Amino acid sequence: MKNIIITGGAGFIGSHVVREFVKNNPESKIINLDALTYAGNLENLKDIENEPNYVFEKADITKVDELRKVFEEYNPDAIVHLAAESHVDRSITDPNAFINTNVIGTANLLNLAREFWTLNPDHQHGNFPDEPRTNLFYHVSTDEVYGALGETGFFTEETSYDPKSPYSASKAASDHLVRAYGNTYGMPFIISNCSNNYGPNHFPEKLIPLCIHNILSEKPLPIYGDGKYTRDWLYVIDHAKAIYQIFNESKTGETYNIGGWNEWQNINLVKELIKQVDEKIGKPAGYSEKLITFVKDRPGHDKRYAIDATKLANDLGWKPSVTFEEGLSKTIDWFLENKEWLDHVTSGDYQKYYNKQYN
Ligand code: NAD
Repeated sequence: MKNIIITGGAGFIGSHVVREFVKNNPESKIINLDALTYAGNLENLKDIENEPNYVFEKADITKVDELRKVFEEYNPDAIVHLAAESHVDRSITDPNAFINTNVIGTANLLNLAREFWTLNPDHQHGNFPDEPRTNLFYHVSTDEVYGALGETGFFTEETSYDPKSPYSASKAASDHLVRAYGNTYGMPFIISNCSNNYGPNHFPEKLIPLCIHNILSEKPLPIYGDGKYTRDWLYVIDHAKAIYQIFNESKTGETYNIGGWNEWQNINLVKELIKQVDEKIGKPAGYSEKLITFVKDRPGHDKRYAIDATKLANDLGWKPSVTFEEGLSKTIDWFLENKEWLDHVTSGDYQKYYNKQYN
């Protein structure tokens, strides 16, 4: 593959995916296509911005004319699509932003890929040959498309879709569109559905970075409902490595679930964070537990998510590189060492970086 467009590359997961592709593909050009919304931060990519195989293009996936310019300039061989509105709480207050970006934006990318790529009608109905593959649309999605689990069971690749929030419904719709373009037009695609990510560069509106930030500044740690909501957590660099491996090694037309076999109830997770942060900053054990504050539940809150990533382990031999405790420790260290990043993000100053670097 020569020219690979990665959408949403300035975001949390996207920035790690871009780094993985840039470092491992000196012969390819990696085009980071991002609109730089509130969640996009080019400071996440400072260490690689001068690499010869990296280029940034500011474009909005809801605007076909902006996308077309990037397609015309680079004529991409593959697209790794992560750009999305990603925060469930925001989807409850403004669902249309999610429908526009996640559904219409994905459709715009698929339509342009269809226009620029010569698709083989023999590949309709999911009939993709193993090799060679020429063009590839890789969609990065979430386990939330499967809905919620009770006390037991796991999401597998065969689990029926049952999204419950405007966010997960918009991601489910975009997954369906990608499969439909594969089935109808023979577009080679891969989809991966991943559990909750955490790690460096995580925007502090999400639970883990929010709690790290609030423990450090002795502010309340808000926990929804009774704190018993259960999530399956994966270190973001393990997710980026999984995407890279699937992109290179998977057959087209496949779906993979990515997860860490790592379920935590929110309350226990926050207590583990308190334990580790207090210890690292020299506070007595349990000092920050007084900050725990139970808040009114989110409407339609899914009780439990848990991924079965056996197919990925069996087919490609992937497994997470760190345990949750190790990943959390690395994440806390990163936030302690990158206070400037956190200050810029919490004050909104990170948005000035683009103007300084690129205008
Ligand atoms: P994020 O919110 O941190 O980043 C999203 C990026 O997309 C930002 O850089 C933003 O500027 C960009 N973007 C948003 N709207 C755009 C538009 N209209 N045009 C171009 N760029 C736009 O999100 P994230 O947490 O890094 O998630 C990335 C992807 O992974 C999403 O598709 C999400 O659904 C999926 N995912 C996330 C998680 C998770 O735990 N965060 C888990 C599984 C899957």
